[in-house]
Amino acid sequence: MKVIVLGAGVVGTATAYFLARRGFEVEVIERQPGAALETSFGNGGVIHASEVEPWSQPGMPIKILKWLGKENAPLLVRYGALPKMWRWGLKFIANCTAENFRRNTLANLRLALHSLDVLQQIRAQTGIEYDLRTQGVLKIYTDPQSLKAGIATAKFLSGSGLTFAEADVAECVRRVPALKATESTLAGGIYFPRDEVGDCHKFTTGLAQRCAELGVTFHYGTTVQGLERGGGGVTSVVTSRGALRADKFVVALGSFTPLVLRRLGISVPIYPVKGVTITVPAQAWPERPPIPVIDDGRIFGLVPLGERMRVSGSAEVAGYDTTPSPARCQAIVNNVISVFPDFARCVDPATAKYWAGVRPVTPSGTPILGRSPLANLFIAAGHGHLGWTMGCGSGEVVAAMVAGDPPAIDVAGFALDDH
Ligand SMILES: Cc1cc2nc3c(=O)[nH]c(=O)nc-3n(C[C@H](O)[C@H](O)[C@H](O)COP(=O)(O)OP(=O)(O)OC[C@H]3O[C@@H](n4cnc5c(N)ncnc54)[C@H](O)[C@@H]3O)c2cc1C
Repeated sequence: MKVIVLGAGVVGTATAYFLARRGFEVEVIERQPGAALETSFGNGGVIHASEVEPWSQPGMPIKILKWLGKENAPLLVRYGALPKMWRWGLKFIANCTAENFRRNTLANLRLALHSLDVLQQIRAQTGIEYDLRTQGVLKIYTDPQSLKAGIATAKFLSGSGLTFAEADVAECVRRVPALKATESTLAGGIYFPRDEVGDCHKFTTGLAQRCAELGVTFHYGTTVQGLERGGGGVTSVVTSRGALRADKFVVALGSFTPLVLRRLGISVPIYPVKGVTITVPAQAWPERPPIPVIDDGRIFGLVPLGERMRVSGSAEVAGYDTTPSPARCQAIVNNVISVFPDFARCVDPATAKYWAGVRPVTPSGTPILGRSPLANLFIAAGHGHLGWTMGCGSGEVVAAMVAGDPPAIDVAGFALDDH
């Protein structure tokens, strides 16, 4: 039986890998010349079950309104984007109740923890090298109230499998000596020992290579233009290089999933939210953090990736534009320097790489996995800020669904109808 996967980001490639391992004949269609060249290319690199809380949370609608038009806001909605996203926005607001937030957070945690196991299995099976570090992640706080709230959330999530340890300021500095310079500003932190870090692009290209060895055909440089219907399902995918037929189809086009599916009359609530990363050579800073540091208040992640450091942050609703805004990049760099003054040594405009990508965000903050209204068409998209964290598990779960087998985890909350 033949399955076509649309999209070779981390989610589509993981899906192709598990379909191939189940014995399906698999083809992947990707418009870029290789795998993981869009949102899965330059993301923050953190595999963090500790960050599973959706952005749709109590109090967020008011915050977003207050931030409207503010260039340095953590989540900036551009006025121009508003008319196109009102339906999505209403669903987002509906998900901001305490009960929905709790349910969505737990669903994400279930998938994130499963995905970590699956990623570790893939690692053991393939030996892919991707600048992996498994020494956990430190989240730091300057505001004691926020720290208290963070610990309360971690305690709540620990009931469903999250592991964490409270870290006082001395412990934060012990784990990340570079924090010594600004330790007086810290309230404390939380250490998440099972979180990992690695280069999503390197991993996904390595996985695509393993897929090819398993017999998967990749059609790179091929743009999906539409899907042909017939007999209650989909018969073929129309591409820039002609039509390709299959028995089943999986749409894993990230933020572009709704654009392709709406031509079939299927509405998928995913909206692109831009974020930026800045990647710099790290040699100039020998005392750099040995593990990723997430700053809760200033909302950035500082991550060691091999011989590089990567900073990520910013959420900007501005349509599909992927130009890194210089102002927002500079704001993030300034925030990092305010905590780690020596980071300035790494930021040389000649070598720093500025990148932006669009996170595929659903109103609930949970991905869409599984069947569509058409019998042989499946969706694996909408992973928001957690696609690297949940990508491998999503591929494994969707491959099971395509095969008609029960998924390894409870998938309540991930169906298109749940969104
Ligand atoms: C700044 C930033 C930081 C992030 N940090 C983290 C992090 O630290 N941890 C984490 O877990 N997640 C993080 N994320 C989120 C994560 O990167 C995404 O959720 C994930 O990459 C989504 O993967 P995907 O495969 O669904 O989408 P994509 O990677 O976008 O893949 C979709 C693919 O479909 C292809 N495509 C689209 N349309 C067509 C078409 N018409 N025809 C053919 N091909 C098409 C694209 O070229 C692309 O390759 C971050 C995101 C951003 C932007």
